[in-house]
Amino acid sequence: MKSQDIRNTFLSFFGDKKHSIVPSAPMVLKDDPTLMFVNSGMAPFKEFFLGNAEPKNNRIADSQKCLRVSGKHNDLEEVGYDTYHHTLFEMLGNWSFGDYFKKEAIAWAWELLTEVYGIDKDILYVTVFEGSDDADNLAMDQEAYDFWKALIPEDRILMGNKKDNFWEMGDQGPCGPCSEIHVDIRSAEEKAKIDGKSLVNMDHPQVVEIWNLVFMQYNRKANGSLENLPNKHIDTGMGFERLCMVLQGVTSNYDTDVFTPIIREIETITDKDYGKNEKIDVAIRVISDHVRAVAFSIADGQLPSNTGAGYVIRRILRRAVRYGFTFLDKKEPFIYRLVDVLSKKMGTAFPELKSQKQLIENVIREEEQSFLRTLDQGLVLLNRIVEETKGDTVSGEKAFELYDTYGFPIDLTALILSEKGLKLDEKGFNEELQKQKSRSRAASEMSTDDWTILIEDDVEEFVGYDTLEAQVKITRYRKVTSKKDGEMYQLVFNLTPFYAEGGGQVGDKGYLEDTHGDVVYILDTKKESNVIIHFTKNLPKHLDETFKAVVDAKQRYRTECNHTATHLLHQALREVLGNHVEQKGSAVHSKYLRFDFSHFSKVTVDQLREVENFVNRRIEGKLPLEEKRNIPMQQAIDEGAMALFGEKYGDTVRAIRFGQSIELCGGTHVKNTSDIWHFKIRSEAAVAAGIRRIEAITNDAVKDFYFENNRAYFEMKDLLNNAKEPVKALKTLQDENADLKKQIEGLLKDKAKNIKGDLKNELTEINGVQFLAKQIDLDASGIKDVSFELGSQFDNLFLLFGANQNGKAILSCYISKELVASKDLNAGQIVRELGKYIQGGGGGQSFFATAGGKNPDGIKDALEKAKDYLV
Ligand code: ATP
Ligand code: MG
Repeated sequence: MKSQDIRNTFLSFFGDKKHSIVPSAPMVLKDDPTLMFVNSGMAPFKEFFLGNAEPKNNRIADSQKCLRVSGKHNDLEEVGYDTYHHTLFEMLGNWSFGDYFKKEAIAWAWELLTEVYGIDKDILYVTVFEGSDDADNLAMDQEAYDFWKALIPEDRILMGNKKDNFWEMGDQGPCGPCSEIHVDIRSAEEKAKIDGKSLVNMDHPQVVEIWNLVFMQYNRKANGSLENLPNKHIDTGMGFERLCMVLQGVTSNYDTDVFTPIIREIETITDKDYGKNEKIDVAIRVISDHVRAVAFSIADGQLPSNTGAGYVIRRILRRAVRYGFTFLDKKEPFIYRLVDVLSKKMGTAFPELKSQKQLIENVIREEEQSFLRTLDQGLVLLNRIVEETKGDTVSGEKAFELYDTYGFPIDLTALILSEKGLKLDEKGFNEELQKQKSRSRAASEMSTDDWTILIEDDVEEFVGYDTLEAQVKITRYRKVTSKKDGEMYQLVFNLTPFYAEGGGQVGDKGYLEDTHGDVVYILDTKKESNVIIHFTKNLPKHLDETFKAVVDAKQRYRTECNHTATHLLHQALREVLGNHVEQKGSAVHSKYLRFDFSHFSKVTVDQLREVENFVNRRIEGKLPLEEKRNIPMQQAIDEGAMALFGEKYGDTVRAIRFGQSIELCGGTHVKNTSDIWHFKIRSEAAVAAGIRRIEAITNDAVKDFYFENNRAYFEMKDLLNNAKEPVKALKTLQDENADLKKQIEGLLKDKAKNIKGDLKNELTEINGVQFLAKQIDLDASGIKDVSFELGSQFDNLFLLFGANQNGKAILSCYISKELVASKDLNAGQIVRELGKYIQGGGGGQSFFATAGGKNPDGIKDALEKAKDYLV
């Protein structure tokens, strides 16, 4: 069965059992500070399990993109070395939210595997929670056992411990026992040698878990105790690629049709064969896996970057480049060329891969290029370290610097050193690494107290579209302590006018006032799993009072101007540049807005002006806000709204319309475009391959901008003696300046010529070497000219020149190439050593090198030392 059909069969099987089939949620999470990427099928439904929201249908099935590369689930280092763990994989899941429970979940899983997919019952094992005699004191899951017993011989039902068979979402919240289904796909011969039972959960590559059925029946309370959940839930997750392996009769996920097209393409591009050499195989598996993770992330709107989720993606891609570089001899970008097969193969199930193919390719190619440059530079630096190393061990500190400052991978350092017959001081390296880790841990350390509940079960309502002020009650609060912010309090209300950061728009600020006139300031507002959290420095004194909650109206208004302008800008860009423009990120602040979008060349000045005019015409057009709050997604799309990739939408959405601009948006907006007053683009630049960024301002910020420019203009005019045409006057000045520069250069050249004659006469002979060490009055390039001129006349020359250039010191050393070899001299090393006298450093080649420093007084001493190199 083809992988495509395997996926569809799963979905239609549960569709027939009255499940709503939903598309995969984006993999990159936007409003969950506890998780960077979706790492299991349940993550997108967390709010349903926590009771913060209600699903439309209490039965759901889907195939969810998961990424296990950080945090609790991190399989990255295994990937490539084994045949069944991936970074990105699909998790097929069926869910019951307070509907069916163990009986159906078990029976249906069995029916699907054995009857629909036709898997031989004799290769399956299941596990059941054995109970625990710890503080939880849980009984064995007899219920599940009995349901399994009706389906499978009892000697295939195995008992599992708490680690494998009791699932918890976090320190608190819903949890419960689980049953896993394992397959044994070894050959009959292997099976005869050792019983499959003893290999379950033992990391055997052919006795693997394929499906985990979680029975959520408890709630873990803040004090650690368990209580029964009023509603019991089912959460299952089956590894799609592993299922394909079983159904396609192969013993590695990489031999299924999910991977083979990519692997064939890698073989073609690199001219290497898969399946002949273990190191090459690992590299090919790493690359075929990682290209999927990176491509899906970019399609979800997460570009590689230097921080957060973007950094994780960058590291995955670099891991792939590194394996290609080291084991497949690929020194130029090639991973981007795999995107084509990938999008052909998976584009039907995941259309974002198709529609964003060009962007994905460009971004990957550019990343590859820049990392390959890093590798090149790193190799040069590593060679230098090797040259300077005395003995056979390279210091861990040096290797760490290479790794930390230049991003050069440590395993590559180790490999290259071993090829050169050198050792790496791994202990020293690990110590440096630990030091750095504890430095950054100390900086980011955070502790979160339990919630204190004041009012139970109140669903918080956002009223901030209509009002900036409301009477609210605090339903719960907790303290959060971090190095960065110190102690902060997080408050949740029964209802709130405060907008929580989201959709690019910053969170509201403002204050709470109680009836005694006591005030605490709300410093920020954020969302976590659908709950709006208000941040304060102090806890209100009278917690159970009713408070007047007031949003900072000025900040909100300026932010709204920028948000509405962002929509108009989006529309303008599609109008002026074309429909390929897609939003790739936005940040809406009170002071400015930032908008990233796909476009493959620089936006010209004329186009920018056209975009500005387009937006300003709509501001002048006084377009009113038309807001539709709870309309079905399809209706919004039909009316012309565009859904963004990587955004998660509910069944009903809010649509915002100003004239022809319609967008799906949860943010807040001005009531009329004329409120924006004026729109001005401040800058346009590239942020990544194929992604441009515009920064713009509106309203008061535009006035400030023009005032500031005006002031600068008059200051400049003043400096130009109040010239009538300052631009012309400035141009004249520039021309004059260029002329003068040329004249000076000519004069210096003449001077160098004269000096050269004199210098030749000053050479003295030491041990058969023509030697001169002298301070001269030339710049660096003059010194170089003189040195090489003299050098062309002698083949036994040693020169050290010092110069004082406007208070900065220069040392420059020239040694005839013949001497470099015969006397083992190195100009680079000499200037580095003598550099200490001028408090500086430098380097260069063995026959010519220059150092700069900040202490001209030391030139004399340095020159004194020069002849020591010859005696
Ligand atoms: P394993 O012990 O094999 O790592 P797990 O216990 O981490 O699996 P779960 O968290 O229960 O797995 O996830 C449910 C299912 O998802 C597993 O049964 C397996 O089929 C699949 N799965 C888990 N991790 C990966 C991975 N890194 N790559 C591919 N499939 C995976
Ligand atoms: Mg695992």
